[in-house]
Amino acid sequence: MNDKVKEVKCPNCGASVDSSGFIDTMFCNYCGTQLLLYDQSDAAVIAKAHVRIAELNHEQKRREFEKRIKDDEEESKYTKYLLPVVILFVIAGWAFLIYIGISNSSYERNEQSRLEALYQDILVDVQNKDYELALTKAHNLYYGKPGTVEAKEWNQRREELIQLIEGFLNES
Ligand SMILES: [Zn+2]
Repeated sequence: MNDKVKEVKCPNCGASVDSSGFIDTMFCNYCGTQLLLYDQSDAAVIAKAHVRIAELNHEQKRREFEKRIKDDEEESKYTKYLLPVVILFVIAGWAFLIYIGISNSSYERNEQSRLEALYQDILVDVQNKDYELALTKAHNLYYGKPGTVEAKEWNQRREELIQLIEGFLNES
């Protein structure tokens, strides 16, 4: 490669400019004037052009490669965080369902024992022949959540008990 010409004199400002690395044209480092590097042989110009094209090609491939690496990193970062988030949501979902189940069954237990206690209380009133009070209490035998199986069961027990107490009331 012909590298004889390195220093070029700028026709505008007169500065000496290093032209190595440039092919047939460059700009003055001091005043920005475009300098034509005529002194080089055609063969050198062509050779340098080939080198420059190869360099640009290489540069382009390097940029594409780096971009691909970066994209892959972004993608793996995304999937890396996506999976734990999905797992977290699934766990949270299950925890919520379990919580609902527990609070439901504890509500059910409380409600059942409240009504059972009231029922026992009414039976005591009936034994004591306090039918009016028993009847008033019997009208309160409602399960807290209407429409449920438990509510239907208690509706039946309440109506049965009311009929029974009314029967005693009519006899007395
Ligand atoms: Zn200049």
